[in-house]
Amino acid sequence: MQFNPSTHIPVMEHFYTIQGEGFYTGHAAYFIRLAGCDVGCVWCDVKESWTVEEQQLMLIDDLLKEVLKYPGRLIVITGGEPLMYDLSFLTQTLKANGFQINIETSGAYPISGTLDWICVSPKKFKAPLKEVLAKANELKCIIFNKSDFEFAEQNCLLATKDCVLYLQTEWSKQEQMLPLMIDYVKAHPQWKISLQTHKYLNIP
Ligand code: SF4
Repeated sequence: MQFNPSTHIPVMEHFYTIQGEGFYTGHAAYFIRLAGCDVGCVWCDVKESWTVEEQQLMLIDDLLKEVLKYPGRLIVITGGEPLMYDLSFLTQTLKANGFQINIETSGAYPISGTLDWICVSPKKFKAPLKEVLAKANELKCIIFNKSDFEFAEQNCLLATKDCVLYLQTEWSKQEQMLPLMIDYVKAHPQWKISLQTHKYLNIP
């Protein structure tokens, strides 16, 4: 879909909540979930984010007005795959209003915009770019089956030594994979466990 990224951005949903997973777990944050993703994870729990509808195009200035209604100053840009778009204007606008901007990405597209914290969640279905992994502050690898531990290690090799390393079970496989993940982290303590605490708290 054609649009001007200096005025509009396709937004699937936006809401103020608590970050439930990864390094910023427990922090109040305004989530901006951009519409559109071509990564195609078979276990994706937001498949409704894959497509972009005309009516999802939102004026960045209108989005800013919504974000400013809440006291939190942490933004999480997620998707979909948010780096499919040039985020320069969106992030400039938010930064100019004093926000910290975190992004959650598969790493499959080049980085754009001004970002304070880059969480890369690499996917086998569309490999992350090396230059994005090299800039990751946080690597969050989803464990859906046993081979995902090896995939996590391969991606870890391309991250910096300061990158924070997380393993997180895919929600539907939690019961099956959590015991393996606990054993794995005990044996490889450079990794930490991330849980989707928002699902336990029953918040978005
Ligand atoms: S990258 Fe995220 S939004 Fe895209 S298919 Fe995978 S899990 Fe779903």
